[in-house]
Amino acid sequence: LKTYEHIIIGNSAAGLNALETLRKYDSESSVLVISREGCPAYSRVLLPYYLKGKIGYDKLFLHGEEFYTGLGADTVFDIDVVDLDSVKKYIALDNGEQIAFNKLLIATGSSPVKPRINGIESPGIYNLWTLQDAQNIERMLSPGKKIVVIGSGFISLMMAWIAVLREMQVTVIELMPRIMPQALDESGSELLHNRMLDYGIDVKVDALTEKIECEVDQLCLSVQGNEPVVADLVVVAAGVRTNTEFLKNSTVLCERGVLVDGCMESSVDGIFAAGDVAQGPTVFGETHVNVPLWSTAVEQGKVAGANMAGQRIVYEGSLSMNVTEMFGLTIASMGQIGLEDDTWKEVYNSHNSYVKIIRRGQIPVGLVTVGSPELVRLSGYCRPLIRQGRDAFKSLDCLLHEMN
Ligand SMILES: Cc1cc2nc3c(=O)[nH]c(=O)nc-3n(C[C@H](O)[C@H](O)[C@H](O)COP(=O)(O)OP(=O)(O)OC[C@H]3O[C@@H](n4cnc5c(N)ncnc54)[C@H](O)[C@@H]3O)c2cc1C
Repeated sequence: LKTYEHIIIGNSAAGLNALETLRKYDSESSVLVISREGCPAYSRVLLPYYLKGKIGYDKLFLHGEEFYTGLGADTVFDIDVVDLDSVKKYIALDNGEQIAFNKLLIATGSSPVKPRINGIESPGIYNLWTLQDAQNIERMLSPGKKIVVIGSGFISLMMAWIAVLREMQVTVIELMPRIMPQALDESGSELLHNRMLDYGIDVKVDALTEKIECEVDQLCLSVQGNEPVVADLVVVAAGVRTNTEFLKNSTVLCERGVLVDGCMESSVDGIFAAGDVAQGPTVFGETHVNVPLWSTAVEQGKVAGANMAGQRIVYEGSLSMNVTEMFGLTIASMGQIGLEDDTWKEVYNSHNSYVKIIRRGQIPVGLVTVGSPELVRLSGYCRPLIRQGRDAFKSLDCLLHEMN
């Protein structure tokens, strides 16, 4: 059996940062990077900017071939890992090959879930997840066309905003009673919802898509309690699941994702996980939380890479944070936002911006903002405070006052 000291499954934020960090401590041992995608490494975060026309195709890519050769790493792309024997320590590829390892990093990320809708496999229905997805969608974007977006999380609404910028007719369908139900509270959702209506978007909440049928060149969606909706294309962004299928025969413990400790090591010695696929510690002291963000994947990848190289580095914990601009609003959601009883401050300021800071005792633990671009400053200010668990209400008060 071919054997590597280190195998990294995943050629994205977590895998690449693990590789670079591993090499800082260990320039000698053999490393193999595997990815199911055949293209060079790229940033998923930049895909919306590409679709908006803000960056060119070439700018999506993170590294060329010389990156891996420079770090002395072998690569196998366009191949799926289909099985792991965590006792004998080898993986199986979809071409039948088996490769043994001493240490393994699972950095396989997550994939969009397909909601159970009749006709969901029809042509003209896309996800916005991979480079291939973005290229497929790009070909379909043109003024006057009708797009339906199913789901109303960050990615769905980014897609809706891109379609508005491309002068398309946009419908958003959300199953829950309000948009962005996980990232925003009710007031934040309402402000954003109203702004989307101003942009002419048809927003349907509390709306279950039952069926999608193909009709000549168009798709027709049956939505419970609504008139049928016609579309040229449908983009589905209704949640993600971790890429852990290939672990089902292994002894690696998984819940939503791979359970890891502060060193990013799984329940099996020498097998690590990082990024979207992992469930690890948070800054709030929780032990196993899945925080699917680029920044978390980078941080966790670095910790995993160092520990694979024999260091002992412990992760300081992840902090969920989304900041984005859409529909002329800056939207930020950070930390724990579900603790309604502990709201410290909820304000609308003169620029029609909404800010809510959530605390536990004297410590800020979460933030929701929807409004003017200057709110980015507030989220930048709050991030270290939440991370370090610092009592800083006086200075926050001053900052809010200044911004009003
Ligand atoms: C459109 C879009 C916009 C986003 N915007 C933001 C943002 O603004 N801010 C933010 O923080 N996050 C954002 N994210 C999320 C962010 O991209 C992810 O959190 C990040 O990519 C996770 O990195 P990762 O390395 O864990 O996994 P991924 O980037 O998903 O990479 C997984 C890697 O594993 C490979 N792989 C998977 N399964 C297998 C297998 N069985 N065999 C072989 N290879 C496999 C894949 O080919 C890939 O190389 C966005 C995501 C999308 C899709």
